[in-house]
Amino acid sequence: MKYPYPFNRIWAKISLLLILITFLPLSILGYMAVTIQQNMVTSQVRGMNYGFSRLIAFQIYSIMRNARAGLDTMAFSRDIASVDRNRIQPILRNFLQNNPIFDGVSVYGFDKNLIAHAGRQLPLENPGSLFTSAAFDRYGGATIGRAGEAQFKRLIYSDDGLIHGALVAALNQDLLARTLNEILSLLTQAYANLNIYVLDSDYRVIASTKQAPFIEGNHFATWSDDPQVVNRFQLSLKDLPGHSYETPPWWIVNIAKPGALVSLLQLQDRVMQIATFTGLIALLFGSLFGRTFITMPLQRLVGAAFTISQGDLGRPVPLVSHDEVGELAEAFEVMRVNLKRMQADLREKFDEVQTLYGVAKDISLTLNFGDLLELILDRAMKIVMADRGSIMILEESSQELTIHAAKGIDKEVIEKSRVKLGDRVSGFVLQTGRPMLIVDTLKSPNFSKLKDGNIAGGTMLSVPLIAKDKRLGVLNISKSTPYTLDERDLELFTGLAHQAAIAIENARLYTLAITDELTQLYIRRFFYQRLNEELRRARRYKGACTVMILDIDHFKKFNDTYGHPQGDLVLVHVARILKSCMRKVDIVSRLGGEEFAVVCPELPTEAAAVPAERIRHSIETARLDLGGVKVNVTVSIGLADFPRHARTQEDLIERSDQALYHAKHTGRNRVCTYDEVPRETDDGDEDPENSSPEDNRAPDPKTP
Ligand code: GH3
Ligand code: MG
Ligand code: MG
Repeated sequence: MKYPYPFNRIWAKISLLLILITFLPLSILGYMAVTIQQNMVTSQVRGMNYGFSRLIAFQIYSIMRNARAGLDTMAFSRDIASVDRNRIQPILRNFLQNNPIFDGVSVYGFDKNLIAHAGRQLPLENPGSLFTSAAFDRYGGATIGRAGEAQFKRLIYSDDGLIHGALVAALNQDLLARTLNEILSLLTQAYANLNIYVLDSDYRVIASTKQAPFIEGNHFATWSDDPQVVNRFQLSLKDLPGHSYETPPWWIVNIAKPGALVSLLQLQDRVMQIATFTGLIALLFGSLFGRTFITMPLQRLVGAAFTISQGDLGRPVPLVSHDEVGELAEAFEVMRVNLKRMQADLREKFDEVQTLYGVAKDISLTLNFGDLLELILDRAMKIVMADRGSIMILEESSQELTIHAAKGIDKEVIEKSRVKLGDRVSGFVLQTGRPMLIVDTLKSPNFSKLKDGNIAGGTMLSVPLIAKDKRLGVLNISKSTPYTLDERDLELFTGLAHQAAIAIENARLYTLAITDELTQLYIRRFFYQRLNEELRRARRYKGACTVMILDIDHFKKFNDTYGHPQGDLVLVHVARILKSCMRKVDIVSRLGGEEFAVVCPELPTEAAAVPAERIRHSIETARLDLGGVKVNVTVSIGLADFPRHARTQEDLIERSDQALYHAKHTGRNRVCTYDEVPRETDDGDEDPENSSPEDNRAPDPKTP
């Protein structure tokens, strides 16, 4: 059988199933574990980041506020308010020394001209709005967007409260960066898995942890959704609760180092590895399990089923396993055994039918009653190789069974056995119409009850011969060993007896139809029919065939003297002797009246003359008692044969008849062949020479 796809294999299906039930939940669990872990790490990192960011933001705020406080203090001094260059100059220098967070400081007059300065001097941007911005940007504030250009401004008032000028201080960017870097390095000493950036409003890096990535030039380069920057956290200084006005709009950005997620990713990888490994194990186990416990038993079962389907029922279906497949195999085995039994039964039935058919064919060809019985008995005995057998026929007049055919039974027994209907086994079987099987004759109480006298040991079968409700007789078969015949034989014999009975009845009717009732010899029609057949055979095989015609001498006298019924007795007497002197193959018949004829196949007249003479002599010498009177009967016999005397049937009878006349004419009680008939009187009418000497010549026998 062909499986076009591998997944049509059961082991493959099981493997797939196992993979599904192992790999799938494991993957889901792994995914869930990783996700939960990731969320947890993320929230932790975020919480930490927020804390760090607030800390840094507060540091910057503190630095700014301290710086502002220093500047304010200086702005209130009288020397500054005097706007005198010589007085201001040393104060400014002193201020820078005391406030290193600034690296440059300048004083502008009311006309916005530079009066004095110390340290780095910054170009004054927007000189027009100097006083305005100095008035508003008290803490540097929004205007300190770029760290590199951060300037603190302060108005200078006169004693009477008029604006004299402005104070501008530049933030020491290096110091700021250094300070922040120090803080960052301190933080990352404790939490190594973070990269922290402090950025101005243009994302220029003011400070960052060491070796932080994503910095190009001095710009922070990545705001993108880089998958590596999964845990980015950013906070504006403006978001610092309570101090937003006093801080510049700078950013603090935290990016978790990949290391923080490495273990997570490793976990994910491990889960995938384990899931794959489990899947492979499932595949291996599934294929091994499927093949060993399912596919292999099934394949063996399929093999066995295939063997059965090819008609080979001889091989047992193996017990393939101890599960449902095994049960299936057992069911197959039961089916096989049943099929085999059925097949054997069918074969036996077929043999039976064939046997019956053979017997029926043979017996249908036989019409002779005696031959038929012999044949039936012979066939019946051969079927079961019986030791003894007999066919008993019911005599209608006496209602007694007598043996008509027998084998293996003593002649004495045959002659003696007369069984009344209803008596003994045969009588009982015929009366009830039911066959009887006696498996052990010595042990069967029924049998010993039915059978009187000596019981022969063995097994016996007795079946009635009944045709069209007519009881004909019984067929008995027996074997010397007990239990050698069984119900099956009984069944077979019942069928056979049915066929046989029909054949026997047909033969009986046929015999009746061709037999003369008075003499029990064949009738004239049958004589002609058989003569025709024998002549045909003689012609074909270049053989001979004699016809003998016999007429009782002066028969009229018997009738006249003793009466017609006594005359009939003479006829019966002559017929019996005639029959007893002839062979079995000779066809002895009564042509009509007191005239008889015999066909002697394969005999020329010389040979047939011998039994003819014996007949003549036997009749002559036998004395018949007719009503107390002993009488002498004589016969005249004429013989002619094929092919010497005649070639056709009519001629042959004619010539035999002529021989008979010749015998009558030459003194009666004689046997004459056609050779003795004088030739000149061959085919003539009545010969005066022949008609005269004897007185009581009967009229033409052919027209009685
Ligand atoms: P022959 O020697 O010449 O033959 O003399 P016959 O008396 O036998 O002469 P024939 O053949 O003429 O006589 C035949 C007689 O047989 C006539 C008839 O009464 C008698 N017959 C014919 N059929 C029967 C029969 O069935 N029963 C009896 N009892 N007589 C029969
Ligand atoms: Mg006569
Ligand atoms: Mg006659």
